[in-house]
Amino acid sequence: MSLYHNAMEDLVEELYEEMYQGFDCCHCEQCHADIVAYTLNQLPGKYVVTKAGGAISKADSLRFQHITDIRAAMIRAVQVVKDYPRH
Ligand SMILES: [Zn+2]
Repeated sequence: MSLYHNAMEDLVEELYEEMYQGFDCCHCEQCHADIVAYTLNQLPGKYVVTKAGGAISKADSLRFQHITDIRAAMIRAVQVVKDYPRH
């Protein structure tokens, strides 16, 4: 396993799990992956070193700082995937 990791990936994935039932779009694996990838491409990478418990508390503070941006990026992503589904 790599010693570094983009914590933004976890946050986006988490938020998808929390929000997807409210999204008026397809929930298949392809659309899920497209939404997460499109969301991540709009956001800065937030790399953390994956040792001990450090990454987890860092992810919490990142979530707190970026939740509004992540949510807005995901809503844009849902719109795009809904308009141009690849499944
Ligand atoms: Zn789909």
